[in-house]
Amino acid sequence: MSDLVLQNIGKTYSNGYQAIPSIDLTIEEGEFIVLVGPSGCGKSTLLRMVAGLEGISQGELLIKGDQVNNKEPADRDIAMVFQNYALYPHMTVYDNMAYGLKNRGVAKAEIATKVSAVAQMLGLEELLTRRPKQLSGGQRQRVAMGRAMVRDPKVFLFDEPLSNLDAKLRVQMRVEIRELQRKLGTTTLYVTHDQVEAMTLADRLVVLNKGHAEQIGTPMELYLRP
Ligand code: ADP
Ligand code: ADP
Repeated sequence: MSDLVLQNIGKTYSNGYQAIPSIDLTIEEGEFIVLVGPSGCGKSTLLRMVAGLEGISQGELLIKGDQVNNKEPADRDIAMVFQNYALYPHMTVYDNMAYGLKNRGVAKAEIATKVSAVAQMLGLEELLTRRPKQLSGGQRQRVAMGRAMVRDPKVFLFDEPLSNLDAKLRVQMRVEIRELQRKLGTTTLYVTHDQVEAMTLADRLVVLNKGHAEQIGTPMELYLRP
């Protein structure tokens, strides 16, 4: 069974603007899919519909065979990493990572085990009592990644997660993200406007233009075709 299926998915905003006419996409378990295209082509709109942060105007969204069009974000078994990290400024790194699990009523001891395991994977063990403003950009990005990972979601969504980092860190973090994703085997939908980043990360790319999926294929198929 495919992990994530977008069937004839479309978005028309309430002002009448049709940001996405219709997209069909089937994503297999463990696949790393990159949505790439210029600013305004509909990348965020599509990702936010999958996340449940934006209503779906048409079509069906299936996660592991379940239709989730009308499910709340928290009930979709997905975790999203945002461009600005969206960390809670008044909470420590530990509490930022634990927040989603606490909300679900997971037992304290289990939360502690989970957070510490993820913190170790991300090299955050020494930073658990700090607050976001006491962290570098790369460390904040890791915390955002950690907060997504502790929930063991079926699907990761990334919305330009590296665009606030300097060039060197961006390359380093994208390698880290891909290694972690491979290790966890979590199906991933990743948005970027950076073609090199897209090619480096993707199992398959979806090239969006004005809300249309112009091309879908592996980096080899899309860029190295004679
Ligand atoms: P929906 O159709 O999902 O209800 P709305 O059209 O009500 O979305 O807009 C949601 C939010 O996005 C509003 O706060 C609105 O001000 C903002 N918004 C409106 N137009 C744009 C635009 N072109 N780009 C980005 N955000 C916009
Ligand atoms: P990208 O992420 O590729 O930059 P978006 O998905 O943010 O593109 O936006 C796609 C198109 O939809 C743009 O033309 C944008 O102005 C428009 N748009 C985004 N949000 C809204 C909104 N809330 N209401 C109306 N139009 C919107």
